[in-house]
Amino acid sequence: MKAFVMKAIGQVGFMEKPVPHPGPNDAIVKTTKALICTSDSHTVGGAVGPRENLTLGHEAVGTVHEVGSNVKLFKPGDRVLVGAITPDWGDPASQAGHSSQSGAPLGGWKFSNTKDGVFAEYFHVNEADANMARIPASVPDEMAVYCADMLSTGFMGAENGNIPIGGTVAVFAEGPVGLMATVGAKLRGAGLIIGVETVPRRQELARTYGADAIADFSKEDVVQRILDLTDGQGWTQLSRRWGRISPSRMLSKSRKLAAPSPMLAITVKVSSCISLASSGESAWRKRPLRPVCVLVAVCAWNASCACWR
Ligand SMILES: [Zn+2]
Repeated sequence: MKAFVMKAIGQVGFMEKPVPHPGPNDAIVKTTKALICTSDSHTVGGAVGPRENLTLGHEAVGTVHEVGSNVKLFKPGDRVLVGAITPDWGDPASQAGHSSQSGAPLGGWKFSNTKDGVFAEYFHVNEADANMARIPASVPDEMAVYCADMLSTGFMGAENGNIPIGGTVAVFAEGPVGLMATVGAKLRGAGLIIGVETVPRRQELARTYGADAIADFSKEDVVQRILDLTDGQGWTQLSRRWGRISPSRMLSKSRKLAAPSPMLAITVKVSSCISLASSGESAWRKRPLRPVCVLVAVCAWNASCACWR
């Protein structure tokens, strides 16, 4: 079969690989649609260290090609969605509610990290009964594939934010995941959603998906704008999308670091606690820096496809 691989840091290309075989609990899926994620480019750039001929990709849907002897819920021919994060569900971390960290820090992230990913004609899924979901007939593959990471990560951000009814949420960067966090915040009952974004089309989409206001750091002081929108109270939740621009970098564009405010302090803390968040712990939740600001940082790898579990 053909596979698109990372040959070495900074080098990609196609190569032939054998079709994988399933273990007793596993499945082999024939890829029908897949998405490129920023994380793929990070991986190729060396973010997780060197890899040799590793198949890239972690967002895909397909049809079941083969299942192991213990798989009960799926059979060949089923159309399935596969989560970007595919934990080992019996692992103690998974059982404790941190499935993304099964087996090791970020151990739930297997595709294009510790095993071949989904940019191939076929790919292997561990613990198929738990890590796949059947796609309803009314949902086409090109829609379902967005649930593998974009929608599930954004929704998980909103869920982890524990947004109170009527709460205020700031979503930094309205890319695909941020847009889904915006939808998730709306569904969770947020009363005010502020999208921090500069790209006009994304601003428009953010409003379509539920943002009540847009803060554009290329045109205004985002900190002041958010304070103005909230009568000086700030946000209830901060959901940070995993991307190239951190909230602190965004805000530093609009306000000098030499003139910090409580809001800015929180934001800087957020960017430095991403590693904590990605370790599956919620220590920052227990350390609000202001009474009205519960701090939650979310990254893609803290998500476990909550949309379909
Ligand atoms: Zn992704």
